Amino acid sequence: MSLNIILLNETLRWHDNPLLQLEVGPKVAVLVLDEKAFFASQYGVARANLRRLQQQLEAIAALKRQLASQHIGLIVCVGNIKECIRRLQQQFGATSLYAAEPVGFNEYSALQQLKPYLSVTLLDCNSLLGDGLRPQLDSLPNTFTPFRKQREPLLEVSAPSDHSVSSSAWLSIAQCEVFNHPFNQLYHQYAATDKNFSALEQSATTLFTQYIWQQQHVRHYKETRNQLYGEHYASFLSAPLALGTLSVRWAWQQIIAFEHSVTANDSTYWLKFELLWREFFRWQFRKYGARWFSKGAIKGAIDFNKPKLNAAQLKRFENWCQASTGVPFIDANMRLLNQTGLMSNRGRQNVASFLVHDLGVDWRLGAAYFEQRLLDYDCASNWGNWAYIAGSGNAAERQFNVIKQALHYDPDGSFVRAMLPEITSSGSLVHQPSQQFQSPEHWHHWLAKLRPASSTP
Ligand SMILES: Cc1cc2nc3c(=O)[nH]c(=O)nc-3n(C[C@H](O)[C@H](O)[C@H](O)COP(=O)(O)OP(=O)(O)OC[C@H]3O[C@@H](n4cnc5c(N)ncnc54)[C@H](O)[C@@H]3O)c2cc1C
Repeated sequence: MSLNIILLNETLRWHDNPLLQLEVGPKVAVLVLDEKAFFASQYGVARANLRRLQQQLEAIAALKRQLASQHIGLIVCVGNIKECIRRLQQQFGATSLYAAEPVGFNEYSALQQLKPYLSVTLLDCNSLLGDGLRPQLDSLPNTFTPFRKQREPLLEVSAPSDHSVSSSAWLSIAQCEVFNHPFNQLYHQYAATDKNFSALEQSATTLFTQYIWQQQHVRHYKETRNQLYGEHYASFLSAPLALGTLSVRWAWQQIIAFEHSVTANDSTYWLKFELLWREFFRWQFRKYGARWFSKGAIKGAIDFNKPKLNAAQLKRFENWCQASTGVPFIDANMRLLNQTGLMSNRGRQNVASFLVHDLGVDWRLGAAYFEQRLLDYDCASNWGNWAYIAGSGNAAERQFNVIKQALHYDPDGSFVRAMLPEITSSGSLVHQPSQQFQSPEHWHHWLAKLRPASSTP
């Protein structure tokens, strides 16, 4: 009997994983670490840093252990998805491939290209709008509000699937392990020393359960979600959702259960609202595919040429990456990103707007740098949000006045002082750009409002 390949690339989890629950006869669990996504560069920017690679390796190792505890083997290949699957297909004479339906254009295309060799079945394991709620792409609104209005009334998120996973019919650990030398080598070369990744399945489900049920921080999500740093001000769902270690349907059902049994308020609604933004970008990526990587994204003529920078722009881009633009609010957020791999949504909007609209740098370079650094890097949410702010995506351009934003979201300068302790000015004066930075005209009104601590009301 021929073997079925079950590709677990975007579902590195045991809970709510329809791929593990498939009853399709003899099968082998496979995961491909896409070499290009972690070791190549785009526009001269490396696609992943060490921390992001380590997080991925740890998530794979954790899944491997979890499967092994149920006597299920996992083959982990390192390379190109299409080539790896093709090799395994030939090796085993496999006739079918089952995988989560990717949103990223390259990942989706790679699976489509396997169709001449085996039957390919894609299950949408990571969207809210699964099964009967799947939108028609040609009538899908291009902006968020009409999308939400169209979809929200119909939104009955299907329950996480709770079928048990049978240990039989899978290739055994020993049968799989013979293929795993390249992964094991890579793991030993790059494994993290602290192994402290909150995005891994067990930590992620525990942390979100605490966030909702024990600590009930979800009650004040809407009031705190715009904070710049700290704990519990937002859900911190993004990294496990991006890795596929957490099921979005499971997270959604936790919020609904809390609403039914404890309280439903603006905050519980708003967390679901934000998850709909994630959903929106997922379907936009399915609709427009590779266009998202064109200079004008989904607007204007298609242009996949590399961003061009003159020497001054290149210097500005480098300063931005290194958190040394001379604008404290920007540098503080960029230092946070460089140190932790995360940044608040408010911070992301500001640094993106600043790079594109104040420094005049092609948005795709910013998106590429975020891809390298973000531990919650998600193709659709990252490139979609960047294009959105640049005005190449699903709205007119969004330019933020950085000083106005700094005064609003960090009025006493405590965030900037925490991230940039070398700046000693008190109160909101900490937001004063360095003398080398020439502030744009539209900041002047707000710069005049900066005050030392004693005169802060
Ligand atoms: C320039 C830019 C780049 C971004 N890149 C990414 C990325 O690579 N990966 C990523 O997951 N998010 C990205 N975001 C969206 C957002 O900033 C993060 O999802 C959020 O900050 C993650 O923190 P959280 O999970 O605590 O969010 P919460 O505020 O708790 O939100 C809950 C969830 O809703 C979703 N969500 C919230 N805001 C957005 C949004 N604007 N777009 C899409 N989904 C959203 C996320 O899944 C998030 O986990 C980006 C935003 C900007 C402006």
